[in-house]
Amino acid sequence: MTGPPIRDGGVVFTTGRIEAIGPANDLQKKFPDAVIQDAGNSIILPGLINAHTHLELTLIQGGNPPPHLVDWIEKTVIPQTMRTGASTPETIQQAIQAGVRQCLSFGVTAVGDISKQCAQTRPALRDSPLQVVSYGEIQAMAQRRGLLEERFAIASDTFAESDSLRVGISPHAPYTVEPEGYARCLAFAKKNNRPIATHLAETADEATFLESHTGPFRHLWEVGVNAWDNAVPRFAGGPIRYARHLGLLDYPTLLAHVNYCDDDELQILAQGKSSVVYCPRTHKFFGHPPHRWREMLARGINVAVGTDSCASSPDLNVVDDLRLLHAIAPEVPPMQLWQMATLRAARAINSPNTGSIQSEKQANFTLFPCKTSDPLREILEQDIRPSGLWIAGREFPIPSPR
Ligand SMILES: [Zn+2]
Repeated sequence: MTGPPIRDGGVVFTTGRIEAIGPANDLQKKFPDAVIQDAGNSIILPGLINAHTHLELTLIQGGNPPPHLVDWIEKTVIPQTMRTGASTPETIQQAIQAGVRQCLSFGVTAVGDISKQCAQTRPALRDSPLQVVSYGEIQAMAQRRGLLEERFAIASDTFAESDSLRVGISPHAPYTVEPEGYARCLAFAKKNNRPIATHLAETADEATFLESHTGPFRHLWEVGVNAWDNAVPRFAGGPIRYARHLGLLDYPTLLAHVNYCDDDELQILAQGKSSVVYCPRTHKFFGHPPHRWREMLARGINVAVGTDSCASSPDLNVVDDLRLLHAIAPEVPPMQLWQMATLRAARAINSPNTGSIQSEKQANFTLFPCKTSDPLREILEQDIRPSGLWIAGREFPIPSPR
């Protein structure tokens, strides 16, 4: 999605790749043998991309907004993932199937998916219609730092890789991974040209924890996980400088959230190569102060949208996240918002062959019915659901969300 919509336009594709785009009349003359499918009064968008989600958590219910991220981890995520039977291969399969179904129902063709249960999620996602960057998640800190190699082996395993599933790596967050773990993941990513993602600056308490080992995250380790020790390295200067110190910003790292960012930190991000993935409805769920996404974009930082998981978002409808942005910032041109779930999202998950309708790119399209001359705005202002979906040139039926 790089230019304005083409009125009475069309797109020609073969074997999963886009051949040409332009006015439909011109294309018909140029490709007289093409099979014609008339989309009627619709807009053909690049296939939507959800740049940050955790499909294995689709069956977790977020409940009421928590006072703090740590309360949510302790009272929602841990009980619902540790509960007897909640993490069996069967329940993980059910969660993945539910997640894939939601994605397709909302017009999403590709995801940046974070997974701890890679052995189960990757084969299921590989066999789904979605295109997936599967970031294997690693947590290894304090008394659990010795689990790094074991977890790294699972997270970086490429056994399920295919044309539609690419393996990436995700050191979870500065409050769950030590510098050694980050270094291990970054070295793997650089050596093998792999995508890497981390949660960063999600709450203001990350800075406190890094600097002085105090605050809610220390409580989580000491009481919730019961695995703290004092050998965890400290860092003064906050999570964004920490990411720079670790070398993450010299690589196209996906930084999920970045909800807390001062002016100097904005400048640091602008000097780096990383992308920020803002999850508007999850951000709202936790009640963070306004996100600085517009200033990030103005400084040239690549900002995409994601939903995060169903444990903090009502569902995986990334268009509803764009609708929230449109409500927050009606002055931002709709095209810029749509780019955050297409072209910019493709860049965030290191999938340059998707995210726009250009020749040679993947034939991924999401179709929406429209009635007005400004369909990009119309979809953001009305409850319009997608009416067609193509992934790598194949048309898939749109299921109901549940
Ligand atoms: Zn997340």
